[in-house]
Amino acid sequence: MKTCPIQKSSSILILVFLSFNLISQIQAQGKTIPDSKLNLNEQKKDNPMKRTDSDWKRILSPEEYRILRDKGTERAFTGKYDGHFEEGTYKCAGCGNKIFDSESKYRSGCGWPAFSDALPESVAETKDNTMGMARVEITCSKCESHLGHVFNDGPNPTGLRYCINSVSMDFNQEEKK
Ligand code: FE
Repeated sequence: MKTCPIQKSSSILILVFLSFNLISQIQAQGKTIPDSKLNLNEQKKDNPMKRTDSDWKRILSPEEYRILRDKGTERAFTGKYDGHFEEGTYKCAGCGNKIFDSESKYRSGCGWPAFSDALPESVAETKDNTMGMARVEITCSKCESHLGHVFNDGPNPTGLRYCINSVSMDFNQEEKK
């Protein structure tokens, strides 16, 4: 049985289409966004700190443990860095990871230390729907300790307000960038 020219050209077109689709799929697999580019926190399985809960309890004071490991919040206007404006670097109180530069600190009036930006790749973000609010939690990217939350009512150019517990931070004057 003879196939007419229209049938032949249709078959060729379908083959070309299928091949193109397959190539696109293979290319797409190689172009997935790397985890480091994602904004949301994927809990790392290979936690570099390798600290157990009992390690944290031994290392931290009860108040530090409550906030850093149990996601607590210090009372507003009581933290030692709320009205602190020296030049330097703020580090995670759990592991020493540098998280904020004093240049990004500003007076927000919210009762907790506020920063308009975090140091690159120093913190991770996780959706937090507890306490009847839709917030974004900020944790240390190295030890996953709770630092605070980030809101979108901050100053330019970022428009962000990183609202951070003083207990979650240590300050180092010498290590300003
Ligand atoms: Fe940390």
